[in-house]
Amino acid sequence: MYPESIELLINNLKKLPGIGKKTAERLALEMVYWDDFDLEKFAESVGDLKKNLHFCETCGNFANGSKCVICINTARDHKSICVVEQPTQISILEQSRIYRGYYHVLGGKLKPLDGIGPDELNIDKLIQRAQSEEIQEVILALSFDVEGEATASYLVEELKPYVEVSRLATGIPLGTDISYADTGTLTAAINRRYKL
Ligand SMILES: [Zn+2]
Repeated sequence: MYPESIELLINNLKKLPGIGKKTAERLALEMVYWDDFDLEKFAESVGDLKKNLHFCETCGNFANGSKCVICINTARDHKSICVVEQPTQISILEQSRIYRGYYHVLGGKLKPLDGIGPDELNIDKLIQRAQSEEIQEVILALSFDVEGEATASYLVEELKPYVEVSRLATGIPLGTDISYADTGTLTAAINRRYKL
């Protein structure tokens, strides 16, 4: 229906989560009217995306160097680590401004049926960090779905010998991925976290 160059862009946009064919079409047709400079900048930002992007050697968050901006910030609360599934969830928690400690990114949830076990996630590093004398509390900010529950149970067993482990209160609806929780709900969930 469209010239090949537009079809190609539509197909690439469709690869993004939450973008269906209709939305991809609308976005691509919008971009047809952009000027060359903006299109080049856009293409450049996509092309350069991973050139300087690393994962923090301490927590697994996105980083431009070996450590992320949060791990190099010595003003944060050294006594606690908040465990999340993905780096994007850190930015949601940061927006809530309620939590001032450090983070740890697992890189997913336990999904035995898909072959994702403890070795596939960033768990060994978390246990090492929990054993350091400074850390007193590990807060599990994991999704309230079946896989999140399984991951939380596993982590409690592994971490309990070393630290206090707590979990966000279930102000977040059951079955929810925490990426979709709003900051108000998250703030309440952190405030009312409970010990495991
Ligand atoms: Zn970090």
